[in-house]
Amino acid sequence: MSNDASQGANVELAHRIGSEIAAVHAAEVDRNARFPAEAIAALKDARLLSALVPQELGGMGMKMVELTAVCTALGQYCAATAMVFAMHQIQVACIVRHGLGSEFFRQYCRELVDKQLLIGSITSEVGVGGDTRSSICAVEVDGDRFVLNKDATTVSYGAHADELLVTCRRDLAAARSDQVMVLVRRGQYTLEQTSQWDTLGMRGTCSPGFKFRSRGDAAQILPGDYADSSGQTMVPYSHILWSGLWLGIASDAMSRAASSVRAEARRNPGTVPPTALRLAELSNTLQSMRSNVHDVARDCQELQESAEGNESLLTLGFALKMNNLKISCSTLVVQIVHQALLICGIQGYKNDSKFSLGRHLRDAHSAQLMIGNDRIYGRSASMLLVYKDA
Ligand SMILES: Cc1cc2nc3c(=O)[nH]c(=O)nc-3n(C[C@H](O)[C@H](O)[C@H](O)COP(=O)(O)OP(=O)(O)OC[C@H]3O[C@@H](n4cnc5c(N)ncnc54)[C@H](O)[C@@H]3O)c2cc1C
Repeated sequence: MSNDASQGANVELAHRIGSEIAAVHAAEVDRNARFPAEAIAALKDARLLSALVPQELGGMGMKMVELTAVCTALGQYCAATAMVFAMHQIQVACIVRHGLGSEFFRQYCRELVDKQLLIGSITSEVGVGGDTRSSICAVEVDGDRFVLNKDATTVSYGAHADELLVTCRRDLAAARSDQVMVLVRRGQYTLEQTSQWDTLGMRGTCSPGFKFRSRGDAAQILPGDYADSSGQTMVPYSHILWSGLWLGIASDAMSRAASSVRAEARRNPGTVPPTALRLAELSNTLQSMRSNVHDVARDCQELQESAEGNESLLTLGFALKMNNLKISCSTLVVQIVHQALLICGIQGYKNDSKFSLGRHLRDAHSAQLMIGNDRIYGRSASMLLVYKDA
């Protein structure tokens, strides 16, 4: 990762929003499972919600390496804020990378820049588990209008979003895997909440189930197949940006553990505290995680900028790399926070201490569930039967 992208002005801005706003509200957002409204408002003020929109349409045209670094920065202060930000960017990525051949989506991007609109995602559905490549619901087009209804199990910040990007079957006759995405705008849909969001972690993402009912213009159906936008955009952006923010959680855990060890060293000058050994071990694990996130973000960006462009993101080799990143980072974040907790001891276990790691640990445990790791291992296993360069 070049210094420019990972330590540039936008990353500094994310650190400032993180430390001055997100961190101030993080404990209360977590305790009350409430939307991190202050931090998201600050990200809007900084115009970061349109980071991925091309400059010609008024956005920043931010690339993968820098966006990942912004997610890592936010993840150090409030993982729920970082996850809302990352999920929004994943939706914007689908639109800017697959929709700009359509005048509707070009105009929508200009409006997104202007109003800093927040986009939520509905891939989950009652009856398909966490298989994002399968839908039961279908978009029904009649002339230039559509009707789309979906019974979703989990919709992050559904009640706070301005729009929702929804996966569904192309039409009533289509197979479950023959999907498209539809951007449905506020005022065009209703949400009937069907479950609560009282979870172990990531409480501020506010992600209960909803019965979603909508009508809109057929132009709001994202051009192309979801099979392509999933492989070329949704999966890589999800796995890289999520890994980036999990790295933020892990980095903050490391920094709390390091402060705790240094405090112990100051209490006993001239001695190396026994926990320093564990800290060295932690630093080693964190470095592996960081290198993996940075390498894969850079690889992805280079492929996007290569002559083959989007096509190069559809290879088995790239898909395996994405799967491995997600599995590895979602596992390491839990290990790292747990190791940090052992170093901080009871001070890490307490909720009211400056070394507290309870929220980090609870948030980290969501990582392996967000697209279950065994589901991902299953996909990699099938690919490895035919992929010879592993
Ligand atoms: C914090 C958070 C925010 C979320 N936000 C959203 C959102 O905004 N929008 C949205 O649509 N969804 C969202 N989700 C839902 C998420 O995308 C998944 O749909 C959901 O976490 C999967 O639910 P599940 O574990 O019940 O399902 P499953 O994926 O069906 O997993 C159930 C169990 O079956 C196992 N399993 C499944 N398939 C296989 C397989 N092929 N091989 C082996 N084992 C398998 C899994 O490992 C797991 O143990 C969110 C989830 C979380 C945790």
